[in-house]
Amino acid sequence: MPLRLYNTLTRQLEEFKPLVGNTVRMYGCGPTVYDYAHIGNYRTFLFQDVLRRYLKYSGYELRHVINVTDVDDNTIRNSQAAGVPLRAYTDKYIEAFLVDRQLLNLEQPEFLVRATDHIPEMVKLIQTLVDRGFAYASEGSVYYKVAAFAPYGKLTHVDFSGILAGARVDSDKYDKENARDFVLWKAAKEGEPFWDAPFGPGRPGWHIECSAMSMKYLGETFDIHSGGSDLIFPHHENEIAQSEAATGKLFVNVWMHSEHLIVNGEKMSKSLGHFYTLRDLIHQGFKPSAIRYLLTSVPHRKPLNFTFDGLHQAQQSIDRLRNFRFRLTKEEFPEGETPALQNIAREAAQKFADALDDNLNTAGALGAVFDMVRDGNTAMDHGEFHAGDRSEFLDTLQRFDRIFAVLEDDDHAKLLKLGFVKPQEAGTDANAAAGSVAGGAPSDEEIEKLIAERAAARRAGNYARSDEIRANLQKAGVILEDTKAGVRWKRK
Ligand code: AMP
Ligand code: ZN
Repeated sequence: MPLRLYNTLTRQLEEFKPLVGNTVRMYGCGPTVYDYAHIGNYRTFLFQDVLRRYLKYSGYELRHVINVTDVDDNTIRNSQAAGVPLRAYTDKYIEAFLVDRQLLNLEQPEFLVRATDHIPEMVKLIQTLVDRGFAYASEGSVYYKVAAFAPYGKLTHVDFSGILAGARVDSDKYDKENARDFVLWKAAKEGEPFWDAPFGPGRPGWHIECSAMSMKYLGETFDIHSGGSDLIFPHHENEIAQSEAATGKLFVNVWMHSEHLIVNGEKMSKSLGHFYTLRDLIHQGFKPSAIRYLLTSVPHRKPLNFTFDGLHQAQQSIDRLRNFRFRLTKEEFPEGETPALQNIAREAAQKFADALDDNLNTAGALGAVFDMVRDGNTAMDHGEFHAGDRSEFLDTLQRFDRIFAVLEDDDHAKLLKLGFVKPQEAGTDANAAAGSVAGGAPSDEEIEKLIAERAAARRAGNYARSDEIRANLQKAGVILEDTKAGVRWKRK
């Protein structure tokens, strides 16, 4: 199946092809770094990551830009409240964003850029808009003249022609009902950071930032632009108005938007006051891999309801996948092959890709893999699985993990490296296993080390130690089973 993506601009599923050659040029709106990002934000960033990974999986090269908004109303307000210069204030949250990205296995884009490093590009673009009659200065600020751009509203699919004349809006965020001429350059205010420009000292509006940065790295017309659905209006509508008025060319071929993460029936949001950061959940003992899994498991165009139950289930799903891989690699199977089983694994890989080709249907892709895991486990339990069948199943699991990236049991190592757990909690003795991952379950790796230590203790006749390890693992929720093929373990 060819890859088909839903385009907000045309409201259709379209077969995807890069505009030029084999390289996909894409831009994803990143965080506004005035605070820690919440997991609703990460739902959108994870959708962008799945998109990136699947484009690579499909054989494309990537030229991918993610921006960080480090100057806007919110960053200025919070940095002033904290009494810290804007750059130093936003540095802290950019650093946090990079740490969170590592924890959630978000791939690094080719370019991760911050707005304040691109002020000259923004000034130049605003000047072009003024020169071409799409923008005007007023009281030291510059506004975009919406009535001058006839297609305004084409992304939102709303006819704005009746409500636009005259009035202006200075804030970056407003709703469709308040659509007005919007601000490109805000005149400097007492005590606020500012930059010099031909139209007077000031700072950029939020929307011009993304137009200037995306076109700098990706050209005047590029393949994909994405963000959460709340960015369709006004942010992306305004980006189109700015970019297309300046260049006279199509700005973006495919616009993609993810639906919101919902909590208690409402969009997870800072301004509504109900949100969890990644850190909040880690400190409650949840693994980043489980959070990644939960947030990617629902296709991006469906709202996702966040619950702790869902997070526990995500952890169980990952355990099931990791245990299956453990069996595949460690268990002894009779020599030979079972062609029918190998077919199951191959077909699962095909269904996995077919689902993702269908506008990144992650739920369908997971379904295909779990069907395979169930059939593989059943065959193993009935002695029908042969050594020659391993590689086909492992291959499909690896394909799965190129997109979902949760099989590697490295949560604990990462939390340790990034300073979320202390080294003394990370020992490999049985006591540590009972309390690792910020009080959560021990990792597969730790369990395997302890099982090896237990085997060594038994060989040496130290049954007290071997029993102690088993008891401690049990306390940590891990059950050991001694079988002819060796020790098998599972989480309670
Ligand atoms: P911001 O930091 O507010 O600029 O938002 C960064 C990204 O997160 C944008 O693409 C937003 O659309 C997205 N976003 C904000 N809240 C949510 C949510 N509850 N669910 C999914 N995406 C969100
Ligand atoms: Zn943006």
